[in-house]
Amino acid sequence: MDRQKYQELVETFFEWQQPAISQIFTELLAAVAAESASSPASIMSQNYETARANPEIHNLPGNLKDARDVIFPYFWGTDSWNNPLHLENVRGPANNASLIGMLACLLKNPNLCTDRYSQRSNELEVKAITTLANLIFYHTNDPWGVFTIGGTISNLYGAKIGVEKVLPGTMREGLRGERIVGICSQASHYSNQTVAGWLGIGTQNLIEIPTNADLSMRMDLLDAKLDELYSAQIKVAYVCCTFGTTDGFGFDDIEATYHLLREKAAKYSVPLPQLHADAAVGWALSMLTEYNTQSNPLQMEPRLIDLVQQVQSKNKGLRFADSVTIDFHKMGRGHYPSSAFIVNRREDLKYLARTVSDTPYFSDANASRDPALFTLECSRPALGPYSVIASLNAIGLTGWQMLLARSLELADRLKARLSKLDYCKVLNADAPGASVNWWVLPKGRNADDIFQRLVNNELTREQQMRYLPEVRRLFDKRNKMMDPNLDARLGFTTSFGYCPHGIDIPAWKAVFFNPKTTEAMVDRIADSIEEL
Ligand SMILES: *Cc1c(COP(=O)(O)O)cnc(C)c1O
Repeated sequence: MDRQKYQELVETFFEWQQPAISQIFTELLAAVAAESASSPASIMSQNYETARANPEIHNLPGNLKDARDVIFPYFWGTDSWNNPLHLENVRGPANNASLIGMLACLLKNPNLCTDRYSQRSNELEVKAITTLANLIFYHTNDPWGVFTIGGTISNLYGAKIGVEKVLPGTMREGLRGERIVGICSQASHYSNQTVAGWLGIGTQNLIEIPTNADLSMRMDLLDAKLDELYSAQIKVAYVCCTFGTTDGFGFDDIEATYHLLREKAAKYSVPLPQLHADAAVGWALSMLTEYNTQSNPLQMEPRLIDLVQQVQSKNKGLRFADSVTIDFHKMGRGHYPSSAFIVNRREDLKYLARTVSDTPYFSDANASRDPALFTLECSRPALGPYSVIASLNAIGLTGWQMLLARSLELADRLKARLSKLDYCKVLNADAPGASVNWWVLPKGRNADDIFQRLVNNELTREQQMRYLPEVRRLFDKRNKMMDPNLDARLGFTTSFGYCPHGIDIPAWKAVFFNPKTTEAMVDRIADSIEEL
Protein backbone atom coordinates (compact mmCIF):
# COMPACT_ATOMS: atom_id res chain seq x y z
CA MET A 1 0.00 0.00 0.00
CA ASP A 2 1.11 3.55 -0.70
CA ARG A 3 2.41 4.55 2.74
CA GLN A 4 2.30 8.25 2.06
CA LYS A 5 -1.33 8.23 0.92
CA TYR A 6 -2.23 6.19 3.95
CA GLN A 7 -0.45 8.69 6.18
CA GLU A 8 -2.33 11.61 4.63
CA LEU A 9 -5.60 9.81 5.10
CA VAL A 10 -4.94 9.18 8.76
CA GLU A 11 -3.80 12.74 9.40
CA THR A 12 -6.85 14.26 7.73
CA PHE A 13 -9.42 12.12 9.43
CA PHE A 14 -7.89 11.00 12.73
CA GLU A 15 -5.61 13.82 13.93
CA TRP A 16 -7.19 16.83 15.63
CA GLN A 17 -7.17 19.26 12.70
CA GLN A 18 -7.90 22.20 14.91
CA PRO A 19 -7.86 25.09 12.40
CA ALA A 20 -9.67 23.07 9.73
CA ILE A 21 -12.33 21.88 12.17
CA SER A 22 -12.94 25.29 13.73
CA GLN A 23 -13.09 26.97 10.34
CA ILE A 24 -15.82 24.64 9.16
CA PHE A 25 -17.63 25.00 12.43
CA THR A 26 -17.52 28.79 12.08
CA GLU A 27 -19.02 28.47 8.61
CA LEU A 28 -21.82 26.22 9.84
CA LEU A 29 -22.53 28.63 12.67
CA ALA A 30 -22.79 31.49 10.17
CA ALA A 31 -25.25 29.42 8.17
CA VAL A 32 -27.51 28.76 11.14
CA ALA A 33 -27.37 32.42 12.08
CA ALA A 34 -28.48 33.31 8.56
CA GLU A 35 -31.57 31.18 9.09
CA SER A 36 -32.95 33.73 11.52
CA ALA A 37 -33.35 36.19 8.64
CA SER A 38 -35.92 33.95 6.97
CA SER A 39 -39.34 32.74 8.03
CA PRO A 40 -39.96 29.09 8.96
CA ALA A 41 -41.89 28.62 5.71
CA SER A 42 -38.94 29.34 3.45
CA ILE A 43 -36.97 26.20 4.28
CA MET A 44 -35.74 24.31 1.20
CA SER A 45 -38.18 21.61 0.03
CA GLN A 46 -37.34 17.90 0.09
CA ASN A 47 -36.14 15.81 -2.84
CA TYR A 48 -36.92 12.25 -1.80
CA GLU A 49 -36.87 10.92 -5.39
CA THR A 50 -33.18 11.65 -5.77
CA ALA A 51 -32.39 10.55 -2.23
CA ARG A 52 -33.51 7.07 -3.23
CA ALA A 53 -32.28 7.07 -6.81
CA ASN A 54 -28.80 8.44 -6.17
CA PRO A 55 -27.12 6.87 -3.18
CA GLU A 56 -23.72 8.44 -2.92
CA ILE A 57 -20.15 7.49 -2.06
CA HIS A 58 -17.12 9.37 -3.33
CA ASN A 59 -14.38 7.43 -4.97
CA LEU A 60 -11.16 9.01 -3.72
CA PRO A 61 -10.28 10.14 -0.19
CA GLY A 62 -11.03 13.82 0.27
CA ASN A 63 -10.87 16.17 3.24
CA LEU A 64 -13.06 17.66 5.93
CA LYS A 65 -14.55 20.18 3.52
CA ASP A 66 -15.93 17.28 1.52
CA ALA A 67 -17.71 16.18 4.66
CA ARG A 68 -19.13 19.71 4.95
CA ASP A 69 -20.14 19.89 1.31
CA VAL A 70 -22.03 16.62 1.13
CA ILE A 71 -24.16 17.35 4.19
CA PHE A 72 -24.63 21.05 3.56
CA PRO A 73 -27.83 21.02 1.44
CA TYR A 74 -29.56 18.89 4.05
CA PHE A 75 -28.23 21.01 6.88
CA TRP A 76 -29.41 24.17 5.11
CA GLY A 77 -32.74 22.55 4.31
CA THR A 78 -33.45 21.74 7.96
CA ASP A 79 -35.28 24.14 10.24
CA SER A 80 -33.68 24.55 13.67
CA TRP A 81 -36.98 25.78 15.16
CA ASN A 82 -35.16 28.78 16.53
CA ASN A 83 -37.80 31.03 15.02
CA PRO A 84 -40.15 32.35 17.75
CA LEU A 85 -43.15 31.87 15.43
CA HIS A 86 -42.85 28.08 15.76
CA LEU A 87 -45.59 27.07 18.21
CA GLU A 88 -46.82 23.82 16.66
CA ASN A 89 -45.72 21.26 19.19
CA VAL A 90 -43.62 20.29 22.22
CA ARG A 91 -40.40 21.18 20.51
CA GLY A 92 -38.36 24.21 21.45
CA PRO A 93 -35.11 25.66 20.24
CA ALA A 94 -32.17 23.90 21.87
CA ASN A 95 -30.16 26.10 24.24
CA ASN A 96 -26.52 27.00 23.71
CA ALA A 97 -25.28 25.56 27.01
CA SER A 98 -26.58 22.22 25.80
CA LEU A 99 -24.71 22.78 22.54
CA ILE A 100 -21.43 23.25 24.41
CA GLY A 101 -22.10 20.17 26.53
CA MET A 102 -22.98 18.03 23.56
CA LEU A 103 -20.02 19.16 21.46
CA ALA A 104 -17.70 18.39 24.36
CA CYS A 105 -19.25 14.95 24.57
CA LEU A 106 -18.76 14.33 20.85
CA LEU A 107 -15.08 15.22 21.13
CA LYS A 108 -14.55 12.39 23.64
CA ASN A 109 -17.29 10.08 22.38
CA PRO A 110 -17.73 8.08 25.58
CA ASN A 111 -19.80 4.91 25.65
CA LEU A 112 -21.92 4.70 28.81
CA CYS A 113 -22.29 0.93 28.69
CA THR A 114 -19.62 0.42 31.35
CA ASP A 115 -17.23 2.44 33.48
CA ARG A 116 -14.30 1.27 31.41
CA TYR A 117 -15.65 2.78 28.19
CA SER A 118 -16.76 6.04 29.71
CA GLN A 119 -14.71 6.83 32.83
CA ARG A 120 -15.88 10.13 34.28
CA SER A 121 -18.71 10.45 31.78
CA ASN A 122 -20.41 7.61 33.59
CA GLU A 123 -19.98 9.62 36.78
CA LEU A 124 -21.58 12.56 34.97
CA GLU A 125 -24.59 10.39 34.18
CA VAL A 126 -24.98 9.57 37.88
CA LYS A 127 -24.70 13.27 38.70
CA ALA A 128 -27.24 14.28 36.05
CA ILE A 129 -29.70 11.58 37.09
CA THR A 130 -29.38 12.44 40.78
CA THR A 131 -29.86 16.14 40.05
CA LEU A 132 -33.00 15.48 38.02
CA ALA A 133 -34.26 13.01 40.65
CA ASN A 134 -33.91 15.64 43.35
CA LEU A 135 -35.90 18.12 41.31
CA ILE A 136 -38.64 15.57 40.63
CA PHE A 137 -38.93 13.62 43.86
CA TYR A 138 -37.77 16.54 45.98
CA HIS A 139 -36.56 14.48 48.93
CA THR A 140 -35.27 11.14 47.84
CA ASN A 141 -32.60 8.93 49.35
CA ASP A 142 -31.47 6.47 46.79
CA PRO A 143 -32.62 7.32 43.26
CA TRP A 144 -31.03 5.87 40.16
CA GLY A 145 -31.59 5.89 36.46
CA VAL A 146 -30.21 6.02 32.96
CA PHE A 147 -30.37 8.18 29.88
CA THR A 148 -32.23 6.71 26.92
CA ILE A 149 -32.85 7.74 23.35
CA GLY A 150 -36.32 9.07 24.06
CA GLY A 151 -39.42 9.23 26.18
CA THR A 152 -40.78 6.14 24.49
CA ILE A 153 -37.85 4.06 25.74
CA SER A 154 -38.00 5.63 29.19
CA ASN A 155 -41.68 4.63 29.38
CA LEU A 156 -40.68 1.14 28.28
CA TYR A 157 -38.34 0.81 31.27
CA GLY A 158 -41.14 1.73 33.66
CA ALA A 159 -43.51 -0.78 32.08
CA LYS A 160 -40.85 -3.51 32.07
CA ILE A 161 -40.24 -3.13 35.80
CA GLY A 162 -43.99 -3.47 36.32
CA VAL A 163 -44.15 -6.68 34.30
CA GLU A 164 -41.31 -8.18 36.37
CA LYS A 165 -43.02 -7.09 39.59
CA VAL A 166 -46.28 -8.85 38.84
CA LEU A 167 -44.89 -11.79 36.86
CA PRO A 168 -41.37 -12.48 38.21
CA GLY A 169 -39.01 -14.22 35.83
CA THR A 170 -40.49 -12.79 32.64
CA MET A 171 -37.03 -11.66 31.52
CA ARG A 172 -36.05 -15.35 31.23
CA GLU A 173 -39.29 -17.20 30.74
CA GLY A 174 -41.49 -14.72 28.89
CA LEU A 175 -45.16 -14.04 29.60
CA ARG A 176 -46.07 -17.76 29.68
CA GLY A 177 -49.56 -17.19 28.35
CA GLU A 178 -50.51 -14.87 31.22
CA ARG A 179 -52.81 -11.98 30.43
CA ILE A 180 -51.06 -8.86 31.65
CA VAL A 181 -52.37 -5.34 31.26
CA GLY A 182 -50.99 -1.84 31.51
CA ILE A 183 -53.11 1.21 32.25
CA CYS A 184 -52.84 4.81 31.12
CA SER A 185 -55.30 7.59 30.33
CA GLN A 186 -57.05 8.40 27.11
CA ALA A 187 -54.99 11.59 26.92
CA SER A 188 -51.67 9.76 27.31
CA HIS A 189 -49.00 9.68 24.65
CA TYR A 190 -49.19 7.03 21.92
CA SER A 191 -45.79 5.73 23.03
CA ASN A 192 -47.74 3.75 25.63
CA GLN A 193 -49.14 1.76 22.71
CA THR A 194 -45.65 1.27 21.29
CA VAL A 195 -44.44 0.02 24.67
CA ALA A 196 -47.32 -2.43 25.19
CA GLY A 197 -46.80 -3.78 21.70
CA TRP A 198 -43.02 -4.14 21.93
CA LEU A 199 -43.04 -5.65 25.42
CA GLY A 200 -45.32 -8.43 24.23
CA ILE A 201 -48.19 -7.30 26.45
CA GLY A 202 -50.08 -6.39 23.29
CA THR A 203 -51.65 -3.06 22.43
CA GLN A 204 -55.07 -4.62 23.06
CA ASN A 205 -54.05 -5.08 26.67
CA LEU A 206 -53.24 -1.43 27.19
CA ILE A 207 -56.27 0.01 28.92
CA GLU A 208 -56.93 3.68 28.34
CA ILE A 209 -59.05 5.24 31.07
CA PRO A 210 -61.22 8.19 29.98
CA THR A 211 -60.32 11.62 31.31
CA ASN A 212 -62.09 14.47 33.03
CA ALA A 213 -62.48 17.77 31.21
CA ASP A 214 -59.18 18.92 32.75
CA LEU A 215 -57.44 15.97 31.01
CA SER A 216 -56.76 14.03 34.20
CA MET A 217 -57.51 10.31 34.36
CA ARG A 218 -60.93 9.64 35.88
CA MET A 219 -60.28 8.09 39.29
CA ASP A 220 -63.76 6.60 39.58
CA LEU A 221 -63.25 4.70 36.33
CA LEU A 222 -59.73 3.61 37.31
CA ASP A 223 -61.14 2.33 40.60
CA ALA A 224 -63.87 0.35 38.84
CA LYS A 225 -61.48 -0.99 36.21
CA LEU A 226 -59.04 -2.27 38.85
CA ASP A 227 -61.88 -4.10 40.61
CA GLU A 228 -62.96 -5.62 37.33
CA LEU A 229 -59.44 -6.75 36.39
CA TYR A 230 -58.47 -8.09 39.80
CA SER A 231 -61.78 -9.92 40.18
CA ALA A 232 -60.99 -11.69 36.91
CA GLN A 233 -57.45 -12.55 38.17
CA ILE A 234 -55.84 -10.41 35.51
CA LYS A 235 -52.41 -9.02 36.38
CA VAL A 236 -51.97 -5.24 36.25
CA ALA A 237 -48.30 -4.56 35.55
CA TYR A 238 -48.26 -0.79 35.62
CA VAL A 239 -50.22 2.39 35.69
CA CYS A 240 -48.64 5.15 33.65
CA CYS A 241 -49.79 8.57 34.84
CA THR A 242 -49.12 11.47 32.49
CA PHE A 243 -47.61 14.64 33.92
CA GLY A 244 -48.23 17.16 31.18
CA THR A 245 -50.10 15.61 28.24
CA THR A 246 -48.61 16.27 24.82
CA ASP A 247 -51.51 18.32 23.46
CA GLY A 248 -53.21 20.02 26.38
CA PHE A 249 -50.69 19.78 29.27
CA GLY A 250 -53.10 17.86 31.51
CA PHE A 251 -51.96 16.24 34.75
CA ASP A 252 -53.04 12.92 36.20
CA ASP A 253 -53.48 12.75 39.97
CA ILE A 254 -50.44 10.65 40.85
CA GLU A 255 -51.00 10.85 44.60
CA ALA A 256 -54.58 9.59 44.35
CA THR A 257 -53.42 6.81 42.02
CA TYR A 258 -50.75 5.83 44.55
CA HIS A 259 -53.31 5.44 47.33
CA LEU A 260 -55.81 3.65 45.09
CA LEU A 261 -53.23 1.09 43.92
CA ARG A 262 -52.23 0.34 47.51
CA GLU A 263 -55.82 -0.08 48.56
CA LYS A 264 -56.62 -2.49 45.71
CA ALA A 265 -53.40 -4.49 46.07
CA ALA A 266 -54.23 -5.06 49.74
CA LYS A 267 -57.86 -5.89 49.02
CA TYR A 268 -57.02 -8.51 46.38
CA SER A 269 -53.64 -9.62 47.84
CA VAL A 270 -51.77 -8.93 44.62
CA PRO A 271 -48.34 -7.34 44.04
CA LEU A 272 -48.37 -3.57 43.60
CA PRO A 273 -48.18 -2.48 39.96
CA GLN A 274 -45.42 -0.07 38.95
CA LEU A 275 -46.61 3.52 39.29
CA HIS A 276 -44.84 5.27 36.44
CA ALA A 277 -45.11 8.98 35.68
CA ASP A 278 -44.70 9.98 32.07
CA ALA A 279 -43.40 13.48 32.72
CA ALA A 280 -41.74 13.72 29.28
CA VAL A 281 -43.30 17.12 28.74
CA GLY A 282 -44.18 18.45 32.19
CA TRP A 283 -41.15 17.51 34.33
CA ALA A 284 -39.41 20.85 33.82
CA LEU A 285 -42.10 22.56 35.88
CA SER A 286 -40.51 20.90 38.92
CA MET A 287 -37.91 23.65 38.75
CA LEU A 288 -40.62 25.98 40.02
CA THR A 289 -41.17 23.89 43.17
CA GLU A 290 -39.00 26.04 45.38
CA TYR A 291 -39.93 29.41 43.96
CA ASN A 292 -40.88 31.62 46.86
CA THR A 293 -44.24 33.07 45.88
CA GLN A 294 -44.32 35.20 49.04
CA SER A 295 -41.08 37.14 48.63
CA ASN A 296 -41.44 36.79 44.83
CA PRO A 297 -37.81 37.63 43.96
CA LEU A 298 -38.52 37.64 40.19
CA GLN A 299 -41.36 40.16 40.65
CA MET A 300 -43.94 38.06 38.88
CA GLU A 301 -47.39 39.57 38.35
CA PRO A 302 -50.19 38.26 40.61
CA ARG A 303 -51.75 36.17 37.84
CA LEU A 304 -48.41 34.48 37.16
CA ILE A 305 -47.88 33.80 40.86
CA ASP A 306 -51.26 32.12 40.84
CA LEU A 307 -50.18 29.86 37.95
CA VAL A 308 -46.88 29.06 39.66
CA GLN A 309 -48.77 28.04 42.79
CA GLN A 310 -51.02 25.75 40.74
CA VAL A 311 -47.93 24.17 39.22
CA GLN A 312 -46.32 23.76 42.63
CA SER A 313 -49.31 21.83 43.83
CA LYS A 314 -49.18 19.54 40.75
CA ASN A 315 -45.45 18.97 41.31
CA LYS A 316 -46.16 17.35 44.68
CA GLY A 317 -47.74 14.41 42.85
CA LEU A 318 -44.43 13.38 41.28
CA ARG A 319 -43.10 12.32 44.69
CA PHE A 320 -45.53 9.41 44.68
CA ALA A 321 -44.24 7.86 41.47
CA ASP A 322 -41.99 4.79 41.50
CA SER A 323 -40.36 5.91 38.27
CA VAL A 324 -40.43 8.87 35.93
CA THR A 325 -39.79 9.70 32.28
CA ILE A 326 -38.06 13.00 31.63
CA ASP A 327 -37.46 14.39 28.15
CA PHE A 328 -34.81 17.02 28.50
CA HIS A 329 -35.11 17.58 24.75
CA LYS A 330 -38.61 19.00 25.18
CA MET A 331 -39.20 21.64 27.86
CA GLY A 332 -35.54 21.37 28.93
CA ARG A 333 -34.63 22.89 25.59
CA GLY A 334 -31.82 20.35 25.24
CA HIS A 335 -30.65 18.63 22.09
CA TYR A 336 -31.86 15.19 21.04
CA PRO A 337 -31.49 12.66 22.46
CA SER A 338 -31.60 13.50 26.12
CA SER A 339 -34.31 11.53 27.82
CA ALA A 340 -33.93 10.07 31.28
CA PHE A 341 -35.59 7.18 33.05
CA ILE A 342 -35.38 7.58 36.83
CA VAL A 343 -36.44 5.29 39.67
CA ASN A 344 -37.18 6.69 43.10
CA ARG A 345 -35.62 3.67 44.83
CA ARG A 346 -32.54 2.14 43.35
CA GLU A 347 -33.49 -1.35 44.55
CA ASP A 348 -36.19 -1.39 41.85
CA LEU A 349 -33.44 -1.82 39.29
CA LYS A 350 -33.14 -5.43 40.35
CA TYR A 351 -36.18 -6.09 38.20
CA LEU A 352 -34.15 -5.18 35.13
CA ALA A 353 -30.90 -6.86 36.09
CA ARG A 354 -29.34 -9.63 34.14
CA THR A 355 -26.34 -11.40 35.56
CA VAL A 356 -22.78 -10.89 34.40
CA SER A 357 -22.96 -14.24 32.65
CA ASP A 358 -25.66 -12.84 30.38
CA THR A 359 -23.29 -10.12 29.19
CA PRO A 360 -20.06 -12.11 28.85
CA TYR A 361 -17.93 -9.59 27.08
CA PHE A 362 -18.22 -7.24 30.01
CA SER A 363 -16.79 -9.84 32.34
CA ASP A 364 -15.35 -7.10 34.53
CA ALA A 365 -18.72 -5.39 34.81
CA ASN A 366 -19.83 -4.30 38.23
CA ALA A 367 -23.55 -3.90 38.65
CA SER A 368 -23.22 -0.82 40.81
CA ARG A 369 -21.28 1.10 38.17
CA ASP A 370 -21.93 -0.59 34.87
CA PRO A 371 -25.37 0.22 33.49
CA ALA A 372 -25.02 -2.34 30.68
CA LEU A 373 -26.15 -4.97 33.17
CA PHE A 374 -29.67 -3.59 33.18
CA THR A 375 -30.07 -1.27 30.19
CA LEU A 376 -31.98 -2.12 27.05
CA GLU A 377 -29.12 -0.82 24.96
CA CYS A 378 -25.50 -1.92 24.99
CA SER A 379 -23.57 1.04 23.54
CA ARG A 380 -25.10 4.23 24.85
CA PRO A 381 -24.19 7.87 24.09
CA ALA A 382 -23.39 10.32 26.89
CA LEU A 383 -25.01 13.22 25.07
CA GLY A 384 -27.92 13.42 27.52
CA PRO A 385 -25.85 13.84 30.69
CA TYR A 386 -23.62 16.45 29.04
CA SER A 387 -26.61 18.39 27.77
CA VAL A 388 -28.38 18.26 31.13
CA ILE A 389 -25.52 19.22 33.41
CA ALA A 390 -24.30 21.97 31.08
CA SER A 391 -27.81 23.42 30.70
CA LEU A 392 -28.88 23.16 34.34
CA ASN A 393 -25.74 24.80 35.66
CA ALA A 394 -25.15 27.44 33.02
CA ILE A 395 -28.75 28.67 33.08
CA GLY A 396 -29.18 28.10 36.81
CA LEU A 397 -32.33 27.38 38.77
CA THR A 398 -33.38 31.03 38.68
CA GLY A 399 -32.79 31.20 34.94
CA TRP A 400 -34.96 28.11 34.50
CA GLN A 401 -37.67 29.61 36.64
CA MET A 402 -37.71 32.65 34.36
CA LEU A 403 -37.96 30.49 31.24
CA LEU A 404 -40.72 28.31 32.65
CA ALA A 405 -42.71 31.19 34.08
CA ARG A 406 -42.52 32.89 30.72
CA SER A 407 -44.02 29.82 29.03
CA LEU A 408 -46.88 29.81 31.54
CA GLU A 409 -47.39 33.53 31.06
CA LEU A 410 -47.61 33.40 27.26
CA ALA A 411 -49.97 30.41 27.26
CA ASP A 412 -52.16 32.19 29.78
CA ARG A 413 -52.19 35.36 27.72
CA LEU A 414 -53.41 33.46 24.67
CA LYS A 415 -56.08 31.70 26.74
CA ALA A 416 -57.28 35.07 28.03
CA ARG A 417 -57.37 36.62 24.56
CA LEU A 418 -59.25 33.69 23.04
CA SER A 419 -61.82 33.47 25.79
CA LYS A 420 -63.00 36.96 24.84
CA LEU A 421 -64.15 35.65 21.45
CA ASP A 422 -67.61 34.04 21.49
CA TYR A 423 -66.84 31.76 18.58
CA CYS A 424 -63.66 30.43 20.27
CA LYS A 425 -63.46 28.03 23.19
CA VAL A 426 -60.31 27.36 25.20
CA LEU A 427 -60.42 23.63 25.86
CA ASN A 428 -57.60 23.23 28.38
CA ALA A 429 -58.34 26.27 30.55
CA ASP A 430 -57.78 24.23 33.72
CA ALA A 431 -54.36 22.84 32.82
CA PRO A 432 -51.64 25.22 34.00
CA GLY A 433 -48.90 24.68 31.46
CA ALA A 434 -47.19 25.82 28.31
CA SER A 435 -49.84 24.87 25.78
CA VAL A 436 -53.21 26.07 24.62
CA ASN A 437 -55.86 23.94 22.89
CA TRP A 438 -58.89 25.68 21.49
CA TRP A 439 -61.75 25.72 19.05
CA VAL A 440 -62.39 28.30 16.41
CA LEU A 441 -65.91 28.15 14.96
CA PRO A 442 -67.45 30.48 12.37
CA LYS A 443 -68.38 33.92 13.69
CA GLY A 444 -71.90 33.96 15.04
CA ARG A 445 -71.64 30.60 16.75
CA ASN A 446 -71.39 30.38 20.51
CA ALA A 447 -68.50 28.00 21.08
CA ASP A 448 -69.03 27.73 24.86
CA ASP A 449 -72.62 26.75 24.35
CA ILE A 450 -71.87 24.19 21.64
CA PHE A 451 -69.12 22.68 23.77
CA GLN A 452 -71.41 22.44 26.78
CA ARG A 453 -74.05 20.71 24.68
CA LEU A 454 -71.45 18.27 23.41
CA VAL A 455 -70.40 17.48 26.97
CA ASN A 456 -74.05 16.99 27.97
CA ASN A 457 -74.55 14.72 24.97
CA GLU A 458 -77.17 17.07 23.59
CA LEU A 459 -75.68 17.45 20.11
CA THR A 460 -77.25 15.34 17.41
CA ARG A 461 -74.93 13.32 15.21
CA GLU A 462 -75.72 15.79 12.45
CA GLN A 463 -74.71 18.76 14.60
CA GLN A 464 -71.46 17.06 15.54
CA MET A 465 -70.74 16.46 11.86
CA ARG A 466 -71.40 20.12 11.18
CA TYR A 467 -69.53 21.80 14.03
CA LEU A 468 -66.43 19.68 14.53
CA PRO A 469 -65.14 19.81 10.92
CA GLU A 470 -65.52 23.60 11.05
CA VAL A 471 -62.65 23.68 13.54
CA ARG A 472 -60.36 22.09 10.96
CA ARG A 473 -61.68 24.10 8.03
CA LEU A 474 -60.93 27.38 9.73
CA PHE A 475 -57.48 26.14 10.71
CA ASP A 476 -56.76 25.33 7.06
CA LYS A 477 -58.12 28.71 6.06
CA ARG A 478 -55.76 30.52 8.40
CA ASN A 479 -52.86 28.47 7.06
CA LYS A 480 -53.68 29.63 3.56
CA MET A 481 -54.06 33.26 4.55
CA MET A 482 -51.20 33.59 6.99
CA ASP A 483 -48.20 35.82 6.51
CA PRO A 484 -45.24 33.58 7.44
CA ASN A 485 -43.24 36.57 8.68
CA LEU A 486 -45.94 37.70 11.06
CA ASP A 487 -48.26 34.83 11.90
CA ALA A 488 -47.21 32.05 14.25
CA ARG A 489 -47.32 28.48 13.02
CA LEU A 490 -49.85 26.55 15.04
CA GLY A 491 -50.50 22.87 15.56
CA PHE A 492 -53.67 20.86 15.18
CA THR A 493 -54.78 17.76 17.03
CA THR A 494 -57.67 15.51 16.00
CA SER A 495 -58.31 14.60 19.64
CA PHE A 496 -56.94 16.72 22.47
CA GLY A 497 -57.50 14.02 25.07
CA TYR A 498 -60.92 14.62 26.61
CA CYS A 499 -63.50 12.46 24.86
CA PRO A 500 -66.95 12.88 26.44
CA HIS A 501 -69.26 10.07 25.25
CA GLY A 502 -66.34 8.73 23.22
CA ILE A 503 -66.31 11.74 20.90
CA ASP A 504 -62.85 12.81 19.69
CA ILE A 505 -62.55 16.56 20.03
CA PRO A 506 -60.30 18.32 17.50
CA ALA A 507 -58.39 21.41 18.53
CA TRP A 508 -56.04 24.12 17.44
CA LYS A 509 -52.83 23.97 19.42
CA ALA A 510 -50.03 26.34 20.42
CA VAL A 511 -47.07 25.42 22.63
CA PHE A 512 -44.92 28.11 24.18
CA PHE A 513 -41.44 26.62 24.44
CA ASN A 514 -39.60 29.34 22.52
CA PRO A 515 -38.19 31.98 24.89
CA LYS A 516 -38.17 34.57 22.11
CA THR A 517 -41.91 34.49 21.45
CA THR A 518 -43.39 37.88 22.33
CA GLU A 519 -46.72 39.23 23.57
CA ALA A 520 -47.22 40.87 20.18
CA MET A 521 -46.96 37.46 18.49
CA VAL A 522 -49.55 36.02 20.87
CA ASP A 523 -51.92 38.93 20.30
CA ARG A 524 -51.45 38.56 16.57
CA ILE A 525 -52.78 34.97 16.83
CA ALA A 526 -56.05 36.28 18.23
CA ASP A 527 -56.12 39.06 15.61
CA SER A 528 -55.52 36.61 12.79
CA ILE A 529 -58.48 34.55 14.02
CA GLU A 530 -60.68 37.64 14.07
CA GLU A 531 -59.68 38.33 10.47
CA LEU A 532 -60.75 34.89 9.23
C1 LIG B 1 -42.98 13.14 23.45
C2 LIG B 1 -43.63 12.30 24.44
C3 LIG B 1 -43.25 10.96 24.62
C4 LIG B 1 -42.28 10.29 23.69
O1 LIG B 1 -41.02 10.85 23.84
P1 LIG B 1 -39.93 10.74 22.70
O2 LIG B 1 -38.75 11.39 23.31
O3 LIG B 1 -40.48 11.49 21.51
O4 LIG B 1 -39.75 9.28 22.42
C5 LIG B 1 -43.82 10.25 25.64
N1 LIG B 1 -44.74 10.81 26.44
C6 LIG B 1 -45.15 12.08 26.30
C7 LIG B 1 -46.17 12.64 27.25
C8 LIG B 1 -44.61 12.86 25.28
O5 LIG B 1 -45.04 14.12 25.10
